[in-house]
Amino acid sequence: METKSVKIGNVLIGGGFPVAVQTMWKSPLTLNIEPILLEIDDLSAIGTNIIRFAVPDIESADILSGIAKLSSLPIVADIHFDYKIALKCIEGGVHKIRINPGNIGSEWKVMELIKAAGDKGVPIRVGVNGGSLPKSLMNKTNLSEAMVEAAEIELNVFEKLGFKDVVFSLKSSDIKSTVMANKQFSSKYSYPIHLGVTEAGPLIPGIVKSSIALNMMLNENIGDTIRVSLSDSMRNEVLAAKEILKSSGRNIASVDIVSCPRCGRASFNTQDFLSEIDTELQKLKKKVSIAVMGCVVNGPGEARHADLGITGSGDNVVIFRRGKIVRKGNPRDSVIMFLEELSKL
Ligand code: SF4
Repeated sequence: METKSVKIGNVLIGGGFPVAVQTMWKSPLTLNIEPILLEIDDLSAIGTNIIRFAVPDIESADILSGIAKLSSLPIVADIHFDYKIALKCIEGGVHKIRINPGNIGSEWKVMELIKAAGDKGVPIRVGVNGGSLPKSLMNKTNLSEAMVEAAEIELNVFEKLGFKDVVFSLKSSDIKSTVMANKQFSSKYSYPIHLGVTEAGPLIPGIVKSSIALNMMLNENIGDTIRVSLSDSMRNEVLAAKEILKSSGRNIASVDIVSCPRCGRASFNTQDFLSEIDTELQKLKKKVSIAVMGCVVNGPGEARHADLGITGSGDNVVIFRRGKIVRKGNPRDSVIMFLEELSKL
């Protein structure tokens, strides 16, 4: 079912809007906010739509309020345990609050929060986490059902107060429970869903786990915003999220890369070349396909559908556009030549 739309700063999620990409800041907030704002700009340039910060105390809430006023991306405050920190963040102008129903406490505290958020037009995400469920649900053997129940207990409070700007997430580090919980919840409710597998792991295992789980849900049209949780950089979380969306058939304005793994026939180092143009490619907000191939044996032929390609050819490299060679040159100049041709697309 199509979800309701919710506005987070200037980003709309749900209601058929494109799936928004999120990441989460990885260190404590500091008073020196200038480098944080610059990093947010860099993350925005590679396709991040929303950024979340942990807010463990009132001092951090003050800092985050300052960031929210100047940030190029909508800011989400992630609050555990203390509803007063959430009130402070709402008052300070953050764009969304995330609470964990497992630890935010009594219903009256959630009500206070909802009222304050309603007055300021701030949406709230109820982030159910399989590892920190409310005490009453801890002993349930079916994890996905317990996660849905935790979301529903919280949902009742929001519905009692007529608060509609609410987003739900049901995450665990287990793929099956995460997928089941999201399927069950989304078959009953039309609130937007934030997708993710929590604590998915380091770069490679984390991406594999997240890709499998998120693809299963995206294929069923579940998910309005995603975060890939990795024990790695925010940049890699965002790039992984974008690749998952692209591979799941979503229309993402970014580069699709075909590249060969290289073998004994390679006369061009595809890996080195890709790492040299990596930063440029990440910033390119165009839906184009490129091919980077090691030799002419399979290069231009296999990659003839690419908008732009490069391959080794003896001591030279050749650049081709949709299968037709447009330039030849020394591998030393390959990056400059390729980026020049890319800018013409
Ligand atoms: S394109 Fe050439 S170098 Fe690359 S894997 Fe195929 S045969 Fe090997």
